Amino acid sequence: MHAVAIVAAAGSGSRLGASVPKALVPLGGRPLVAWAVDALLAGGVGEVVVTVPPAERAAFAAALPDRVRLVDGGATRTASVRAGLAAAGSRADAVLVHDAARPLTPPDAVARVLAALAGGARAVVPVLPVVDTTVLVDDDGVVVEAVPRAALRRVQTPQGFDRATLVAAYAALDAAAELTDDAAVVRAAGVPVATVPGDERAAKITVPHDLALAELSVGLTGSEVHP
Ligand code: C5P
Repeated sequence: MHAVAIVAAAGSGSRLGASVPKALVPLGGRPLVAWAVDALLAGGVGEVVVTVPPAERAAFAAALPDRVRLVDGGATRTASVRAGLAAAGSRADAVLVHDAARPLTPPDAVARVLAALAGGARAVVPVLPVVDTTVLVDDDGVVVEAVPRAALRRVQTPQGFDRATLVAAYAALDAAAELTDDAAVVRAAGVPVATVPGDERAAKITVPHDLALAELSVGLTGSEVHP
């Protein structure tokens, strides 16, 4: 199986309070996107396409290995992934879509997604259980009811797809649609989405505290994917 990974890295660093795009924010001295690309290659992906903010191409090129292809991203994550998919070519039979904002994803987690695709899944997402009590609230923030958490899961990336399935699902999606992940795109097309165990280390870096935790983790354990 030949897998191409699309790394969504065209977002801003605004919630992180960063002056550079989030994917270029350093962790252990290296940009987040470089960690994410290393994890994908170490996990078994054959080629990588990174969607970047158009004005930052040179900075991304300097941060990534030559074999990584750069593509201009769009105004939303959905638009960025659409651009990455168009550039990915048709050689691959599997596509993994990953957030640059999940730098410490272990290669094992990537390999589990690839194994599910090799086993015949058309779409697969890594998931974790919900450990907190989970509630629905009304517009005033008052609790309406508790949601039984046993069947709830938190969804991570990389999310894996049969390439033709993902291409067809994006083609059928409204051009203006904005979805938070790619499994939602194939589900909208009626495709069942399988799950594999995710990993807490694949947490998404969104706010400064997330970055501080990741720095601590790198400092304590050293890099798992970079010498
Ligand atoms: O904003 P959020 O953290 O949900 O973004 C998830 C991922 O999508 C990030 O890695 C970000 O760089 C990427 N993204 C993108 N294009 C956008 C917005 C976000 O590639 N227009």
